[in-house]
Amino acid sequence: MKALYLTDHIELTEIKQAVPAENEALVQVRMAGICNTDLEIVKGYMGFTGVLGHEFVGRVVEASDSSWPGKRVCGEINFGCGNCEYCGRGLSRHCPQRTVLGILNQNGAFAEYVTLPLKNLHAVPDAIPDTHAVFVEPLAAALEILEQVKIQPDHKVAVIGDGKLGLLIFQVLRLTGCDLLLIGKHSRKMALAGTLGVKTIPLQNLPEEKFDFVVEASGAAAGFETAMKLVRPRGAIILKSTYHGNLELHAAPIVIDEVTIVGSRCGPFAAAMRVLHQKLVNVEPLIDQIYPFDKAREAFEHAQQPGTLKIILQMN
Ligand SMILES: [Zn+2]
Ligand SMILES: [Zn+2]
Repeated sequence: MKALYLTDHIELTEIKQAVPAENEALVQVRMAGICNTDLEIVKGYMGFTGVLGHEFVGRVVEASDSSWPGKRVCGEINFGCGNCEYCGRGLSRHCPQRTVLGILNQNGAFAEYVTLPLKNLHAVPDAIPDTHAVFVEPLAAALEILEQVKIQPDHKVAVIGDGKLGLLIFQVLRLTGCDLLLIGKHSRKMALAGTLGVKTIPLQNLPEEKFDFVVEASGAAAGFETAMKLVRPRGAIILKSTYHGNLELHAAPIVIDEVTIVGSRCGPFAAAMRVLHQKLVNVEPLIDQIYPFDKAREAFEHAQQPGTLKIILQMN
């Protein structure tokens, strides 16, 4: 099968087709989205080699459970061992032995076929097109914030980052009714955010006001300093960016202002599917371009251009 394989560079190449183990499904990938995490992995984040890709929609072609074949699915990306304390508590995304699709010791979805445990699959309702279903994984990651912190309607919340994830997070947090501001730097994306009904401000004009919650989704280490400028004493910063490299941390202001720092990663798929199905967020304007899989290298080059939104690969 064809796959986009990462060694010290990425290459569209022929590899042996994945074979599903017991309790796994073979999924024919239909579309997959390129995420900022993929771009960081190519730069060395996670030290991953193999097939990239963790945001996908596909159709089950083979599974030991006969109720799955033929179904269109998205898949949760963390594969837990199933036996440890974390897996037992339903926290397989924190299983110490986990593999992660296209990120950690597990070939991903930038391929014609991918295998996943059946328990990771979520059927996609017919009303959700493939171009929207590829957003289930990052939308779940945005929803994770609401599982971790209690954002109330009278809270003031800032989101730093007008990228793909920032614009999803913004739309999710808006559902709480809170007083919300998006801080970005790309005029095209800020204009787009404006059309989504988003209150925006450019990074160079940071407001004097302070926020109860600041979500850092800029995708870069510099976003943390911005978050510290914006958060009120006893407020919380939610870190969503995954990047290659380290953050230089000046800890004293965190201590003095008693700021809570919350790391935030993968989230609830079933909820993300409901949010899409009920059209509570609009992902359509976040799609920049769809490339045929044969043009995967060009698609990656496009995705790496600053200011680009979602680039989707179409396999089938
Ligand atoms: Zn991602
Ligand atoms: Zn486990």
